[in-house]
Amino acid sequence: MFEDHRAFIHLGTNLGDKRKNLKTALEHLESFSGTICSFSSIYETAAWGKSNQPDFLNQAIELSTKLSPFELLYELQSIEQKMGRARIEKWGQRIIDLDILFYDDITIDYQQLTIPHPLIEQRRFVLEPLLEIAVDLIHPVHGSSIQALADSCSDQSQVLQLRDDR
Ligand code: ADP
Ligand code: MG
Repeated sequence: MFEDHRAFIHLGTNLGDKRKNLKTALEHLESFSGTICSFSSIYETAAWGKSNQPDFLNQAIELSTKLSPFELLYELQSIEQKMGRARIEKWGQRIIDLDILFYDDITIDYQQLTIPHPLIEQRRFVLEPLLEIAVDLIHPVHGSSIQALADSCSDQSQVLQLRDDR
């Protein structure tokens, strides 16, 4: 029997019906990747790294999965493709972006797959949703809690928690 693993996934969308995109992605994740144990509220944030594009909706989830890290990446990429995401430009507009933030407490350092995700501590739009669902989590490389990473994060961009998540 394969043990279940605990992974944290970050979702981002800034094209089309963004709430619907998040909902569809969660349904696909449940069908193809594992069981969603917890999910954050939805957050609205200005585009990061590249301006002049629509605001993003972001969300984080905790997933219980039997997939290996690379199998999980493969499933996330096929969900992105099923949902019609075209890879046009780095940090450009996208229907859905699914990133693996953490997978148990492992570290992987390939270009194709880096875990923990290397930009977690620099992006407030990743840290804020994560804070809601990962209070007990310690970053396996930095040895800090998510709260400590959020406290020392220099990204001052507005990350707005949306109360109505329906
Ligand atoms: P970004 O998420 O940086 O906006 P993409 O979604 O286009 O950009 O991802 C670019 C590449 O990042 C993918 O081809 C994927 O193989 C790689 N990658 C590396 N680490 C991860 C990770 N932890 N989660 C998801 N993709 C990753
Ligand atoms: Mg991505």
